[in-house]
Order: sequence, then C-alpha cells, then structure tokens
Amino acid sequence: MEHNAAGHTSALRLLRPDAACRPGLRVAVVAPPWIAVPPAGYGGIEAVIDLLCEEFVARGHDVTLFAAPGTQSSAHVQPLLESAHPDTIGAALHESDHVSAAFDAIDEAGEAGRPFDVVHDHSGFTALAMAGRVDVPVVHTLHGAFVPETAAFYGRHGHKALLVAISRSQLEHAPPGLQVAAVVANPIAVHRWPFRSRKDDYLLWIGRMDPVKGAPEAIEAARLAGRSLVLAGPVQTGQADFFREHVEPHIDGRRVRYVGEVGGMRKQELYAGAAATLVPLRWEEPFGMVMVESLACGTPVIAFARGAATEIVIDGENGMLVADETEMAHAIDKLDSIDPVRCRESVRDRYDVATVTDGYEAVYRQATSRTPLPERMLKAHAQVSRLAGGSLTL
Ligand code: UDP
Repeated sequence: MEHNAAGHTSALRLLRPDAACRPGLRVAVVAPPWIAVPPAGYGGIEAVIDLLCEEFVARGHDVTLFAAPGTQSSAHVQPLLESAHPDTIGAALHESDHVSAAFDAIDEAGEAGRPFDVVHDHSGFTALAMAGRVDVPVVHTLHGAFVPETAAFYGRHGHKALLVAISRSQLEHAPPGLQVAAVVANPIAVHRWPFRSRKDDYLLWIGRMDPVKGAPEAIEAARLAGRSLVLAGPVQTGQADFFREHVEPHIDGRRVRYVGEVGGMRKQELYAGAAATLVPLRWEEPFGMVMVESLACGTPVIAFARGAATEIVIDGENGMLVADETEMAHAIDKLDSIDPVRCRESVRDRYDVATVTDGYEAVYRQATSRTPLPERMLKAHAQVSRLAGGSLTL
C-alpha cells in the first residue's frame, strides 16, 4: 500500500470484478479484543460472531477471525494481542492496538496476492474511524445504542463502511442523515438451547450490573409480585458501586439470590427453568441477546417497552411489554397465558442463524459490488462538506 505525505492511503480501492459473483467470499471478521469467541460467560457480541463465523464457513466462505486469544472457531483464527481484556472493555489502548494489527494483516494478505473481499467489523469505534485506510470494503455492525455523545462520530465516519443496524428500534435512534445499509438482527442457534415447558417458580434477571439493565427494578417487580428472583451476571469494571448500593442490600439468598456470572449448561438451565425472564430496560436496548436466549428455552420475557424489546417481545404471545415495576408485577401474575412452545417458535421464525446469515450474505454482496472508490470518495467529500456547512443536524 502506498501512503502520501500526510500518511493517508492513496491506493484506489478498485473492486476485484469477480468478487460479487463468486460463491465463496474471503471474509476478514474483526471481533472486539476483550473476550474470546465463543464466550465462556458474558459476551453477547462474541456469541453473535461465533455463530456467524460457523455458518459462513459451513456455507463455503473463507473466513479469517481476528479475535482475542483463546478464541476457537472453524474460521482461521488470528489472535493479535497477548491476552484478552475482559476487565478493560472499551479501553483505547487495547482496541487501537488490536485494530491496527488486524488492518496490517488485511493489508499483508492483499500484498501477498490473497486479498480479502470484505472486512466485517464488530469492534468498537477505532475500525470504523479508520475504515478508509484499508483496501477492502468494510461492513460495520452497530452493536451499541446511539447516544448523543456519538452522533458527531457517526456523522464524520459512518460513510466509511456499510453500516448494519441490529434492530429497527436502533435504526430509529440513529443520528439524522446517517446512511444504514440494512437491518440484520442478531442470530441464535435455537436447537442448541434446551426447551422446558414446565417451569420452576423463580423469576430470572440476567445481564451486566449496569443501571441500564435494571437489576433493582427487577428486584422491585419480583417483590411486588411476591415471587423469588435469581440474578445472574458479572459486576464489571466501574459497576461495583452501583451493585453495592442498589443490588447487594436486597440479596438475602432466599427471595433474591445472586449467582454471579454464569455460562454454559448452568446458564441454559437457569433460563429453561425460570417462570419468566425480567428485562426492565432503562435504555434504548439495541437488541438484547438475553431476550432471545430466554425465548429459545420457552421462557417468556416481561420487558419494559423500550428499544428492541418492542420487536423481540410480542405482547401477549411470547411475553409481555410493560411500563414500570408495578405493571411488571401484574404481568407476572398472568404468566399462565403464555405458551412456552410459542416463545421458542417466535425466535426460531425470526432470528435463527440461517436467516440472519442470509441477511449478512446480502450485505457482503452489496459491499463487494459497491461503486468503485473514486466515486465513493467524491460522495464522501460531498457528505463531509454538507456536514461542515451544517445542513445536517447531528
Ligand atoms: N451473559 C452470560 N452470563 C452472565 C450474564 C450474561 O453469558 O452471567 C450473556 C448473555 O447470555 C448474553 C450476553 O451475555 O448472551 C449479554 O448480551 P445482551 O445483548 O443481552 O446485553 P449487552 O450486555 O451486550 O448489552
């Protein structure tokens, strides 16, 4: 690759003409550097990457996965850093190190005459901001919620990749003017989750101990309904004070039990045995893997009607959508009206890994047959000029 005096890539990204029609694409998947794939416990993005890689390889694509050490996959795995970093999620030190090494490897593959057809980025912000520097079209899945602080970032960098939203709700909250190529939901391999129609008496809350996930609200709803609650999830860096002040005082080992971070069979059994999973969201949840995992086990979801819960939960059919803890407690009393079989079907119909992979294949084809770079660069410049002129409100 050539670089000009300012260090910018000057090589034109002219498309390999055959890429869009070849059955097997060469795909570079960039996972975040925090947690190995598949995750042993917490790790929604890593669970998604695991399923997509397996399915893409099974479909004959040639997939290289850049991910944290410890990663296992049918794809060619290339760990780039010395260790995983589960305790410093989001740290620029590790993210920039990881993405830079991934981009170097992608460049080297091109220089060696084995170029990738598409890069699929699932990492945070660095890869999207720098996507213009690699000689391969980039697809970037938007895994986070849009918040006001990130609007200017997406305004400046969103055009550098084909953006994929993970729910219609997330798309609705995108900054005005942001071009999103497609909505492709997160996948689940429904057959890998145990189904139980006869439930135990407890309610389940599962997630990271962040205020946005609403553990205290779940505790309150369970208390109002007079039911026992199991809380599962890690207390991540920065969450200790919240946990100590708002969650821990309610844990009595009887009505409210905290079982820490769970994974594997234990997690699956917790889902399958629960009378319902409580999801009292305090943010516009962009997707929420815990909802589809619960439903796959035939366990209804009672969620606050926010974010993607309004798509995943079909009110009265696979769970209930409520406004607050009081309504949640009333919904708990009505759980008998929800059929566990329908819960499982409701995710198989919409989020099974085959359906989701079809969606991404279409996006990859779109990426590999995109307008050649010179024209794209002109459009990008036009967009930046419009932003600079303030014609887009971000
Ligand atoms: N999870 C887990 N063990 C725990 C708590 C959570 O394995 O103790 C997993 C959960 O099964 C899900 C993911 O972590 O796959 C959380 O993903 P979600 O999209 O619900 O939330 P996020 O934290 O990514 O916003």
